[in-house]
Amino acid sequence: MSGQTSASVVERVFRAVDDLWEEEVAFLQRLGRYPSTLGNETAIQRFLADYFARELHLEVDQFIPDPKQLATHPGYSPVEWSYANRPVVVGKWRAQGPKTGKSLILQGHVDVVSPEPVSLWDYDPWGSTIEGERMYGRGIMDMKSGIAAFIYAVKAIQQAGVELGADLLLKTVIEEECTGNGTLATLEKGYKAEGALIPEPFGPRALKAQVGVIWVRVKVKGLGAHVERADRAVNAIEKAYVLIEALKQYRAYINNLPKHPDFQDHEHPLNVNVGVIRSGDWPSNVPAECTFEARIGFYPGIDPQQVKDDVKRWLLQAARQDEWLRKVEPEISFYGFHAEGVSLNQNLELFKILEKAHEKSTGNRLTYMSATATTDIRFYHLYYNIPATCYGPIGANMHGANEWVDLNSVKQVTKTYAAFILDWCGVRT
Ligand SMILES: [Zn+2]
Repeated sequence: MSGQTSASVVERVFRAVDDLWEEEVAFLQRLGRYPSTLGNETAIQRFLADYFARELHLEVDQFIPDPKQLATHPGYSPVEWSYANRPVVVGKWRAQGPKTGKSLILQGHVDVVSPEPVSLWDYDPWGSTIEGERMYGRGIMDMKSGIAAFIYAVKAIQQAGVELGADLLLKTVIEEECTGNGTLATLEKGYKAEGALIPEPFGPRALKAQVGVIWVRVKVKGLGAHVERADRAVNAIEKAYVLIEALKQYRAYINNLPKHPDFQDHEHPLNVNVGVIRSGDWPSNVPAECTFEARIGFYPGIDPQQVKDDVKRWLLQAARQDEWLRKVEPEISFYGFHAEGVSLNQNLELFKILEKAHEKSTGNRLTYMSATATTDIRFYHLYYNIPATCYGPIGANMHGANEWVDLNSVKQVTKTYAAFILDWCGVRT
């Protein structure tokens, strides 16, 4: 029965997690050694598809997202690259016999952000170095540790000889860090369930809200020349700064507006970050062109298209205050994230079951948090009416040098996921 797994079954499965722990750590090390940045996810996805079939005896589908099919979906984010050889992977553990619980999806993203500049690291970003209770590496925390946790939760359940009362789907996706199109592709192909958990490394807390995110690209033209004629030239880098300043003012403006109820406790919930700038190739030349790209956060309940329109208007208005930019208007375009924010109802049964699972693995009460970043749970809620949340390990330096995960927390999260699966999917006795 859902919600009432017997204590002895849970204990048996927790013991299996303990027994499998060394193997789980080695498995996480192996995942960390795949340099699975954007466009380089093939090898780790092939490995996981094979692992799902061979070790967990799942029915496995791996397929390439088709942007042409997804492009009309409101959750689609436009891309400028190909999906060739970049599969998403879905493994299904089909329940035998009558359904006694609810179906569930466990999902993680295999894509990781660049480790550059590598010179800042004290460890090999692809080395999965263990020191004490920490494992270091790019993507170890975000979020290969979470993937290892849910895979070993399932493995422990199988090793304990437990059969589930409903279908369980494991998904490993690409492009969580830039579009979410990997997750969208699995849902559009029909891989749905009655609930979903994603072990993003926000710690062992339940995610109750997340901001929306868009990316913007601004291209500024100057009037190039050699520096000796600089009085007649217009420096594109300096003109780009006019618009970067305007974005900083936009950031102050949106953070001074009344806060969304889920973000009252955050001093500065809406980050606007200039993450890329490209211009120039010679110190003695005046650069003729400068392009910068920024990430912009916004509250749940706002249409991403509206934010794009607002940002464009804001920048063009700033451009009109500048003598040069008034004449040579900047080109403003958008690609990547087109992600709406999410605010969840805390009365969802998903949270009640997660509270119990968390108590079983830690003895503590579950707490809730709001994320100033986006995650793939948005697709489940916004477009498919599937309750979903994040709960994951702890660590530090996510997206920075010397990223690490706390191995004790990975083991604890593995147990919470195991307890959750047993309660949510039900157990066949
Ligand atoms: Zn992540």
